[in-house]
Amino acid sequence: MDPLENEPLRNHCTWRIGGPADFLVEPSSWEQVALVLQYSSENGIPAVVIGKGSNLLFDDRGLRGVVIKIGRKLSRLAIAGTIVQAQGGISAPRLARAVGLAGLSGLEHIVGIPGTLGGLVFMNGGSLRRAIGDTIVEVRTMDRQGNTQTLGRQECRFAYRHSRFQEESCIIMEATMALARGRRDAIAAEMLEILRERRRKFPMTLPNCGSVFTNDPQVCASLGPPGKIIESAGLKGAFVGDAVVSERHANFIVNRANAKAEDVLSLIELVRERVIRQTGETLECEVRFVESTGVIRAP
Ligand SMILES: Cc1cc2nc3c(=O)[nH]c(=O)nc-3n(C[C@H](O)[C@H](O)[C@H](O)COP(=O)(O)OP(=O)(O)OC[C@H]3O[C@@H](n4cnc5c(N)ncnc54)[C@H](O)[C@@H]3O)c2cc1C
Repeated sequence: MDPLENEPLRNHCTWRIGGPADFLVEPSSWEQVALVLQYSSENGIPAVVIGKGSNLLFDDRGLRGVVIKIGRKLSRLAIAGTIVQAQGGISAPRLARAVGLAGLSGLEHIVGIPGTLGGLVFMNGGSLRRAIGDTIVEVRTMDRQGNTQTLGRQECRFAYRHSRFQEESCIIMEATMALARGRRDAIAAEMLEILRERRRKFPMTLPNCGSVFTNDPQVCASLGPPGKIIESAGLKGAFVGDAVVSERHANFIVNRANAKAEDVLSLIELVRERVIRQTGETLECEVRFVESTGVIRAP
């Protein structure tokens, strides 16, 4: 596990934005993760956990601390009957395809989400009105001192795009999910259709972070989803620097060349202010901003 020094964070997120982290490590065992956590906590060094960085905006100044990337090296998967156990670093599309091939249904909706299981559990992410929390039986975590614990589904406090993991600082090591038996061909066909639909609706060529604002069910019932609200406010194509509200889907902000985090943050503010003025509603962010101090927050 050789740490990378002064590693540009733009190489570790889908927005392709962010300055250098003092250190970035990609551990291949939980013992290594525990060692990095213990060292950083004893020495007061900020440690930020990431997956694929598909929901993150990194600071232009980078990070004065260490990034712990939970990815491919911690992505084991075990299937026993309808019970699936997977490590936090497994990619969502790989997980969806593997369980589908095993004739298990319930994770088709995550096939197009370019994140890890850890990131998905943290965000309680999903699509088509489903969320990963719906299938979770238990989650195994590690705290900043390296202690592990197992939490049942109720203890995870899943709600719309929310989990307890957003309130406390821990690493999602693995998750156990209960799925249903299904027909392999039907599952594959559904996943193909989901991918086709996403390709049709979402901007696919320019770097982005998926939906910027959450789709609050109450606001959605009266005004529609955030994409429609932003479009109705005339904001498609609005930009700050190289950060642009996508012409294809107004809840996406794309990086058309060399956008800075500052550009994205200013554009988020501009969108929010215009929407408040026109509708009275405040859009909440789904994406998370990682400050150079290691604080992670919704912009
Ligand atoms: C094109 C595109 C489409 C998208 N579509 C969807 C969608 O349909 N539905 C949806 O919900 N999301 C969507 N997203 C957003 C994103 O993919 C999800 O939020 C995903 O779950 C984030 O996973 P990640 O591994 O990239 O996490 P990161 O972005 O790396 O991290 C997100 C948060 O999770 C925490 N985290 C990550 N891994 C762990 C871990 N192992 N332990 C503890 N904390 C951890 C991080 O600290 C951070 O706070 C989309 C993004 C893109 C770019």
